[in-house]
Amino acid sequence: MTSTASAPYTSELAAALAPDVLERLLRYVRIDTQSDRAHAQSPSTPGQLELGRLLVGELRAIGLEDAALDANGFVTATLPGNVPDAPVIGLLAHIDTTPDESGHGVEPLVHPGYDGGAIALPRRDTVLDPERMPELSAKVGHDIVTSSGDTLLGADDKAGMAEVMAAVTYLAAHSELPRPTLRVGFTPDEEIGKGALAFDIEGFGAHCAYTFDGSEAGEFTDETFTAASADVTIHGIEVHPGQATGKLVNAARLAGRILAALPEDLTPESTSEREGFIHVYAVEATAGKATVRTIVRDFDDDLLAEHVELLRRIAEEVVASEPRARLQFESEHQYPNMRTYLGRHPQVSEAALEALRREGFEPKRVPVRGGTDGSILSARGLPTPNLFTGGHEYHSVREWASVQDMASAAAVAVRLAGVWAERAG
Ligand SMILES: [Zn+2]
Repeated sequence: MTSTASAPYTSELAAALAPDVLERLLRYVRIDTQSDRAHAQSPSTPGQLELGRLLVGELRAIGLEDAALDANGFVTATLPGNVPDAPVIGLLAHIDTTPDESGHGVEPLVHPGYDGGAIALPRRDTVLDPERMPELSAKVGHDIVTSSGDTLLGADDKAGMAEVMAAVTYLAAHSELPRPTLRVGFTPDEEIGKGALAFDIEGFGAHCAYTFDGSEAGEFTDETFTAASADVTIHGIEVHPGQATGKLVNAARLAGRILAALPEDLTPESTSEREGFIHVYAVEATAGKATVRTIVRDFDDDLLAEHVELLRRIAEEVVASEPRARLQFESEHQYPNMRTYLGRHPQVSEAALEALRREGFEPKRVPVRGGTDGSILSARGLPTPNLFTGGHEYHSVREWASVQDMASAAAVAVRLAGVWAERAG
C-alpha cells in the first residue's frame, strides 16, 4: 500500500486550529449523548448533561467566565468583544446525536492521509466505499475520522461543537484580532426537534447566530424545507365477514385506494433539489379504521399548501365513493423555510459568505432538504443560517469527517468574527 501525503489546509489559520479541533472531536464523541423521543424532559437523556458539564469546564478554562449549563441542558458562554458597537453574534452547535443508530461506546479512529480506496472498519464489517460516496472519493490525502463500525461517529454535531470551541479558544488567546462579542450556545435534543423550541433567545441576546451543523466544506444554507404533517383517518364499519353482505365498509381497502391515487412523481425517492413531496411513512389499517400518516415538504409555502390540499382532495374523493365511511383529515405545520425570515436580514447571510471567501472557498449555497435548529430559531426571531462542519454520512455507522475540512470550518468561524467586527457602529 502506498502512503499518501496529507492534503494541505485551506490556510495557515486552519492548520493552526486542526490539532485542537481533532482532539476535541475525539473527546466529545466518547460521551453518549443520543437523544430519546420517548422522554419528555429536557434534556431527554443524562449523557447530554454530562457533555454539557465538560463543555462548561472547558469554556471556563479558556477564560469564558460566565459559562453555564442550565437545568434544561443548554450551555451558554460569552467571549467579550474588543471593538465597540459591533452586534453580538451567536455560534451554535447541538449536543445530542440521533437516536436512530447506536451512539453508545463510540471508539473513534483516525485514518491519516486517505489513499482513495475503501476504508474497512474493524466492527460489523462496515466499509466506507468511495464508489458509493462521491464526497469521500474527493478527499484523497485528508485525515479521515470514523467510528469503529458499530456506532455513529457523532460528528453530527460534535464536529460543529469542536469547531466552535476551537475557534473561540483561538480568539480568546488572540486578543489582537478584532472581534464582536460572541455568544456560544450548545443546545440539546436537536435530533428530536425540541432544542430550538426551548432555547432562550432573549437571554442569549444575539443579533443573529450561525449553526455549525452542515456537511461538505464550503457549503452554506440559508434555505430549508417548509414542513407539515398530514394524517388521513378513515372510519369504516366493521362486521363479521360471514354476515358482512351489504354492511361491511372496509377502511383498509379505502386507504389502499388513497395510496394508489397519490402521484408517483411527488415522493421523496422521485424528487430532488427544490422539488417537494408527500411522504407516506406509516399506515395502520383494519377493516374498521385506517390511518395514513404523511409528512409533506416543499421550499415554497404555497406549493406546500397545494400538496396538503392534493392529499386532502384525493382522500375526500375516495371516501366520498362510500357514503357510510367517514374521513378525518389533520394537518399541522412543523417548521418553516428559514429563507422567509433570513431574507429580511441579508447581511447575516452575506457575512457568512464573506467569511467562506476569506477562507478560500467559492461558497456553495445549498438548500437543505430538511430542517435545522435554525429553521425554528429564525422563525422565533433569531436569524440563524447554517455552515458546514466537514462531516458526512450522518445518522449511520459509516459516518465520517475530514480533519482538514473541520479545521476549515473552525477557521471560517474565526473569520466570521472578523467580518462582523468590521461592521461595528
Ligand atoms: Zn445535526
